Amino acid sequence: MINLKSPSEIECMRASGAILRDCLLYLEEKVKPGVSTKLLDEFAYEYIVSHGAKPSFLGYGDFPGTICASVDDVVVHGFPSARKLKEGSILSLDCGLIYNGWQADAARTIAVGEISAEKRRLVETTRESFFEGVKQFKAGGHLGDISHAVQTYCETRGYGVVRSMVGHGIGRDMHEDPPVPNYGNPGHGPKLEIGMVLAIEPMVNMGTWRTVENGWKCVTADGLPSAHYENTVALTEKGAEILTL
Ligand code: MG
Ligand code: MG
Repeated sequence: MINLKSPSEIECMRASGAILRDCLLYLEEKVKPGVSTKLLDEFAYEYIVSHGAKPSFLGYGDFPGTICASVDDVVVHGFPSARKLKEGSILSLDCGLIYNGWQADAARTIAVGEISAEKRRLVETTRESFFEGVKQFKAGGHLGDISHAVQTYCETRGYGVVRSMVGHGIGRDMHEDPPVPNYGNPGHGPKLEIGMVLAIEPMVNMGTWRTVENGWKCVTADGLPSAHYENTVALTEKGAEILTL
């Protein structure tokens, strides 16, 4: 069942989203060669707690971190670790929090020092594909319009769109209906309505769309890098509003 949010509930989610947006900006500045993702995780925890919010990933299932830190061929759900980031890597930083009972979820892929032109193009295309999806998030459309826009944008540029992980509705729970795949057909799926709040999150691979999974582990099948970009987006009377940007 899709929980539509009232304007006052969306106002609450705006507040959650703003804390997460600022937390990610704060973390992005800390990313550089030699820094461990464990340290970034500690910064994220401190930031969220000191702003009166609660990390939503920590202890979700048995997830051990405040952030997911996924380096290069790790698609999502990487555990923060003591290993130091290396120049030339890309780091997908996914974070979620709860503020006054309302969730926010967002991810950025960040360059560690100088990265190759190929990696830069992957990161930029992934980000751009999110905005292509958001353009289709409008009342009267269908969820498949969003999925199709993301998929087409990435595949026509030679990339693989991950199938095994998808976006989701979000509200009082981190994962609500509907699932939001990054692949699909226009005109299909649930009707888009005012009051929907979705975590739209393209996960895009430089090579094959196939992934290998085992528990939390999710890596590209061919070992090529993967990028992730996510925001919590509300559909209001005025159109799609990105709450975490
Ligand atoms: Mg996320
Ligand atoms: Mg998400």
